[in-house]
Amino acid sequence: MDEKNAYDEIFNYICDDSYPSGAEKDQKRNLRKKAEKFVLKDGALFYVGKSNSQPRRWVYGVEEQKQILTACHTDKLAGHFGCDKMRDKVASRYYWLRVTEDCDETVKHCDICQRNSKKFHKPSSQLHPIKVKDIVWH
Ligand SMILES: [Zn+2]
Repeated sequence: MDEKNAYDEIFNYICDDSYPSGAEKDQKRNLRKKAEKFVLKDGALFYVGKSNSQPRRWVYGVEEQKQILTACHTDKLAGHFGCDKMRDKVASRYYWLRVTEDCDETVKHCDICQRNSKKFHKPSSQLHPIKVKDIVWH
């Protein structure tokens, strides 16, 4: 199922308790369970999870998802943070089905991050002390 369909199913259920046509009992139960994790706000779905946490807007459009990832990583003010900070930054405000994976992919495929990664720099070689000669200077 694509993300827009998943969004629409939950949106329609929350708006008017309607199920997709032909939905079976198990599908209806799953939809009700999923819908508990969302609230409707300003005409859009927001993910709040089981603990009713900070609402995160569900972004289902691929283009908008890419814009958010770029704004939170590649833009001049974004700072090219690593996977953990990137996930915190994006997932604290937005929700989509693969948000965590997309954050990681953005960092892994960022040219600037790859060039500056510690993984690709040669490790420092071991240092050896220089022997001091016992010559007396006159
Ligand atoms: Zn980067």
